[in-house]
Amino acid sequence: MGRLYAFHDATRERDLDRMKTEFLSLVSHELRTPLTSIVGFNEMVLDGDAGEINEEVQEFLEIIKLNAVRLRVLIDDILDLTKLEAGHVDIHPESYALPTIVEVVVQSLRPMIEDKKHTLSLEIANDLPAIWADRDRLVQVLTNLVANACKYTDPHGALAIHARISEDEAALPGEPPRGIALPAFVISVHDNGMGINLKDQERIFDSFYRTEEVSRRQIQGSGLGLTIVRRFVELHGGRIWVQSEQGTGSSFHFTIPVVKGI
Ligand code: ADP
Repeated sequence: MGRLYAFHDATRERDLDRMKTEFLSLVSHELRTPLTSIVGFNEMVLDGDAGEINEEVQEFLEIIKLNAVRLRVLIDDILDLTKLEAGHVDIHPESYALPTIVEVVVQSLRPMIEDKKHTLSLEIANDLPAIWADRDRLVQVLTNLVANACKYTDPHGALAIHARISEDEAALPGEPPRGIALPAFVISVHDNGMGINLKDQERIFDSFYRTEEVSRRQIQGSGLGLTIVRRFVELHGGRIWVQSEQGTGSSFHFTIPVVKGI
């Protein structure tokens, strides 16, 4: 019996991949500057700096503002992702109390949560040690998960954030991936919203993936949030996973390893 070898030169694919990343990064940068000007001038007209405006004009300008903000979020997500893919993202960990981060996130999302008349409960263990993480990135991760919980839950829903330390793999919620570094902070964001079926649960962390239901219901989003969130969690040595049932709700859990002696 002989052996059969198949060789495949992957240089071209790798080059194409790199070019795609560079192209996306360039385009996003170029889009940001004119967009900043659109947002700025729109705001000035809204503020009446160019003269008084009537109600109808104000309504139109508010629509421009809303869409410009959506575009900016999308561009920022693409920029983040291209930097992550190119390995150009450093994290700057510091030691601080986790509840201060939760507070920042809750404050910034309060209008969105109140708008949908959701309740939000917090269950943060009170003997938590200091966490060692990049403050801005952790805010970004948590903001994304809570904003999703809010977005994908019908009005009058119940959202919750839980944080505790886990020392033991068997005590982790849901079906966590294997090999999680422990002890770790386990931070969970729960909602009782539309939920995600099993098949979609495998794909929601992929770039640009959105479930059929949210596209059908025209709930805005880029499908990049969870991809970025997962990368940031992994850059901290943590893991993220989802536990969900369609029609009942979802829980996103992530870990950040405990660093001793900080
Ligand atoms: P986006 O929210 O911009 O679409 P994400 O990457 O954050 O992008 O999420 C990907 C998809 O995962 C969403 O489009 C939605 O279909 C699903 N999803 C995320 N979070 C939730 C949630 N809390 N409940 C139900 N579906 C969710």
